[in-house]
Amino acid sequence: MLYWVSFVKKGSVKDMSDTIAAISTAMGEAGIGIVRMSGKNAIDIGNKIFKGKKVKSLKEAENRKLTYGHIVNPKTQEVIDEVLIAFMKEPYTYTRENMVEIYCHGGIISVKKILELILDNGARLAEPGEFTKRAFLNGRLDLAQSQAVIDLIRAKTDKSYQVSLNQLEGGLSVKIKKIRDMLLEMIAHIEVSIDFPDEDIEEITYDRLEEMAVSVDKEIEKLLSTADRGKILRDGLNTVILGKPNVGKSSLLNAILRENRAIVTNIPGTTRDIIEEYVNIDGIPLKIVDTAGIRATDDVVEKIGVDRAKEMVDKADLIIAVFDASDHLSHEDYEIIEIIKNRKAIVLLNKSDLPKQFDESYFREILPDKEIIITSIVSDIGIDELEKAIKNMFYMGEVEIESDAIITNVRHKNQLVKAKKNIEDGIEAIRAYMPLDCIEVDIRTCWENLGEISGDTVAEDILDKIFSEFCIGK
Ligand code: GDP
Repeated sequence: MLYWVSFVKKGSVKDMSDTIAAISTAMGEAGIGIVRMSGKNAIDIGNKIFKGKKVKSLKEAENRKLTYGHIVNPKTQEVIDEVLIAFMKEPYTYTRENMVEIYCHGGIISVKKILELILDNGARLAEPGEFTKRAFLNGRLDLAQSQAVIDLIRAKTDKSYQVSLNQLEGGLSVKIKKIRDMLLEMIAHIEVSIDFPDEDIEEITYDRLEEMAVSVDKEIEKLLSTADRGKILRDGLNTVILGKPNVGKSSLLNAILRENRAIVTNIPGTTRDIIEEYVNIDGIPLKIVDTAGIRATDDVVEKIGVDRAKEMVDKADLIIAVFDASDHLSHEDYEIIEIIKNRKAIVLLNKSDLPKQFDESYFREILPDKEIIITSIVSDIGIDELEKAIKNMFYMGEVEIESDAIITNVRHKNQLVKAKKNIEDGIEAIRAYMPLDCIEVDIRTCWENLGEISGDTVAEDILDKIFSEFCIGK
């Protein structure tokens, strides 16, 4: 059974003039760990705690080159670790500030001790996403690019990775800028017509305005049409496998897991650690949460309660409904048929290796718009077809990597929806020959709403919320 859990860390970002530090690598046994600092005192702090083999002071070391030495507690002279250290002078750094990166031994102790020492010597612990927030505030990345950073880190399949990379490289930002430039041109024409009505400047016609507004509307629509697929690429496809006990749900899950690479991520910090499993079906991440618990029970509804099961079904992007074709349909089967009638669902008629007790034509009759697949999960029949059906459903058969900008982020989608409403109001006003200054209001609001995607016009509290979703050290 698969459902979706969101996880947002709370916290607002503090003063930009502080020097910040964090462990940037994942905690756990590893070859190396990286602690990094950013801010005006980064190099001074690094200097206090670093003793080089060849260079006495970090200041003698070369910019952007690794230097060998030890991290030493300046008060006690205790040697903490043998490291490589690099400093990078502003402005050519990730944050556009002075940065220091310390490459120490992996594991938990070394990175923690080094971080503590850095904090003792004048830095403060970075908030989640604060390095990237500084990169944004200092103009290195726009907001869409900054959000791509976190998508890139969290990407579960090659395809979602590629989409994030495209966004990080500015793919989405370029599209948004193009649309905003069209709007700006409209605003400029309108203002000239309003401010200098008597001058000999050619006035913008309502026809021309309409033409421009309609093409803006089309561009926004094009981006919006990618949002459903984008969300799935980013967050995974929330899939629920429905079926009465013993129809073969666990067998199905195991078959899918066996055939496809599963990526397991741990989400600490929630009331109990949640294990998420993503299965990669040709680039579509299928999201599987807490399968261990689900696999241990035959009857999910009994275990988690009817309400919870209903909630899972309501949140699902896809339901895989499994029926036992070797058994007569029971009232539970009929209930499931009702549930899936108006939802995105694929029907599996399983145990086709055994003598049939009902005919698939019955299902084709009552569920005419649903894909119906005859399977024998134990003999590995029909699984390929199921995967093909999932792909067709969400990509309309396209399997090639999409290089174009795709909307993967709910915030971006919401802004586009607002902008679309604005431009449509504008088109209506133009068609009604409303005064130019009234039309301008819609055009300008549209321009501003799109600006919130790239971060050109965006409020501080929204920024805090966006960056608080990042991990610490990024
Ligand atoms: P669940 O309760 O829906 O999770 O069902 P399980 O996956 O645990 O399967 C119940 C039983 O049906 C197990 O003994 C499976 O081996 C068996 N089973 C699952 N799929 C098939 C199938 O396609 N054909 C046959 N003959 N048995 C199956």
